[in-house]
Amino acid sequence: MYVYTMTPQSTVNLLLKLPLHSASNSQMKKTVKLKIAIIGGGLVGPICALYMARRGFHVTVFEHRRDPRDWGFVGGRSYNLAVSHRALRALRELGLEKDVLSASVAMNGRYLHQLNRKYKALLYDPKDGQCLYSIPRGVLNRILLDVLTKTNNIEIVFEHKLLAAKRLAN
Ligand SMILES: Cc1cc2nc3c(=O)[nH]c(=O)nc-3n(C[C@H](O)[C@H](O)[C@H](O)COP(=O)(O)OP(=O)(O)OC[C@H]3O[C@@H](n4cnc5c(N)ncnc54)[C@H](O)[C@@H]3O)c2cc1C
Repeated sequence: MYVYTMTPQSTVNLLLKLPLHSASNSQMKKTVKLKIAIIGGGLVGPICALYMARRGFHVTVFEHRRDPRDWGFVGGRSYNLAVSHRALRALRELGLEKDVLSASVAMNGRYLHQLNRKYKALLYDPKDGQCLYSIPRGVLNRILLDVLTKTNNIEIVFEHKLLAAKRLAN
């Protein structure tokens, strides 16, 4: 995922430090004119788009594949994602934790297989009981894309591939 902006990086850095939902902040008035292009509508791109939209940016996400909701998810990375508590915190802030958890399976630990063919269970977090949540990559992608589609100041453009980019000085 890459972020391209049409404003000086220093301005963007300042705005990214603003808390979420800070629309009343006078600095936010400036953001109305800001446009951000995010390249890649996989996992990180949509999350960044949602955070930036909440800070007042107008975001366009360019994804070079076709819309997986219409054409099916093109895998590549085969096995499920293991969502950690850190990831859940970000999803919670965006109001997506419940949707993701309801499509996930909790993984509390792992089995260690020994040479003598015995195995033993090892909890990920015996102290606080935290665990990982397994979710198919395509399902998580779909949840994120559905929210992007419903968010006013976000636009997703499929079948558009970034071919080259020019780095501008600050
Ligand atoms: C085998 C494997 C297993 C993993 N398991 C886990 C796990 O269990 N838990 C975990 O947290 N992480 C896991 N990861 C890491 C996780 O996949 C990545 O951190 C995450 O997918 C990165 O998200 P991303 O949006 O940057 O990339 P991606 O999810 O790959 O999305 C990138 C998107 O950008 C698009 N794109 C690429 N180039 C262009 C272009 N030029 N123009 C337009 N669009 C473009 C692609 O089509 C794609 O949709 C795993 C990675 C691998 C390889």
